[in-house]
Amino acid sequence: MPHTRATHCPLCGSNLKPTDWEGRTRPKCQGCGFVYFFNPASAAAGLVLDATGGKVLLVRRRIQPFRGAWALPAGYQEIDEEPQEAVRREVSEETGLEVEVQRLLDVAWVGDDPRKPANVIIYLCTVVGGQLRAASDVSEVAWFSLTDLPEDMGFDNRDLITRFLDRE
Ligand SMILES: [Zn+2]
Repeated sequence: MPHTRATHCPLCGSNLKPTDWEGRTRPKCQGCGFVYFFNPASAAAGLVLDATGGKVLLVRRRIQPFRGAWALPAGYQEIDEEPQEAVRREVSEETGLEVEVQRLLDVAWVGDDPRKPANVIIYLCTVVGGQLRAASDVSEVAWFSLTDLPEDMGFDNRDLITRFLDRE
């Protein structure tokens, strides 16, 4: 995991040294004593349904991982926003649609993302405005029938939608 290869303290810039600390070897600052804990990122994804409730909004990813595959609109949470704000912002940036969060659906652990592991918070959303257009890091955006999803889907989004359908 390249993101764990920090060499300098983010607080004072001194060298970090691998140190046994609370059950793991962690980089510890030789200057100020800061201990570097690596945590998963937090991300938010929207399972956005159309007015009939039968179609889901998917984006075709223009970046890795799963470049070229279809996925739920999603992205990392900014440091100063709540998860629900993050999902509304990401859906708007990637699809042009303004959405409202209906409820929390799921939390998915994505441990194999080469950028960094993440907890992805998935919200059920409905459209309240905007104009459909692909932007940001997606090349295409489209509505798909929940029972006729595209073959090439990224992450475990197909399983996630299947679980959603099984529960409803
Ligand atoms: Zn330091």
